[in-house]
Amino acid sequence: MERRDILKGALATGLWGLLPGLASAAPQVKDMKGIEELQKNWMALLAPGIKVLKPNEPMKLAKEEWRKRLDKEQFYVLREEGTERPRTSPLNQEKRDGVFVCAGCDLPVFTSAMKYESGTGWPSFFTTIPGAFATKTDFKLFLPRTEYHCVRCGGHHGHVFDDGPPPTGQRWCNNGLALKFIPKTGKA
Ligand SMILES: [Zn+2]
Repeated sequence: MERRDILKGALATGLWGLLPGLASAAPQVKDMKGIEELQKNWMALLAPGIKVLKPNEPMKLAKEEWRKRLDKEQFYVLREEGTERPRTSPLNQEKRDGVFVCAGCDLPVFTSAMKYESGTGWPSFFTTIPGAFATKTDFKLFLPRTEYHCVRCGGHHGHVFDDGPPPTGQRWCNNGLALKFIPKTGKA
């Protein structure tokens, strides 16, 4: 078989078929109705007894207070818009049921059902808990990117891109240091 034919065959089976690891990591949600259900029912993944903070209860602290509350690396990401090195977060491997909250203020921002393996080395999500984030355009690199931050404490979490899996097409690329995971059952 000619090399070109092999390539053609591979294209016919689809890129997902070539990358079995990624295919299995693709979300199980088929359509936007499914996404709405995930967003509406996110509390189903919350551990019992956890007090739910609301986005409309802002938490404002002075820089020095944040420095005391967060460790050095968390401070760099959340308060100075830093980016952790890829493949350093233990949350990349986190596959249990549960809820991800902001490491700065404990606001729930994602659930385990919204997470997928993007292969980038950062925890990635295809949607969020409604109202958790606000966005702004960041011009730090040559091309503008959409930065997002926690609406409650203003902490920087990551950037959102439009190369995520269907049906949303979104990739919320989050610093693991900006998140805390609360498993639905068992120990954190
Ligand atoms: Zn926060």
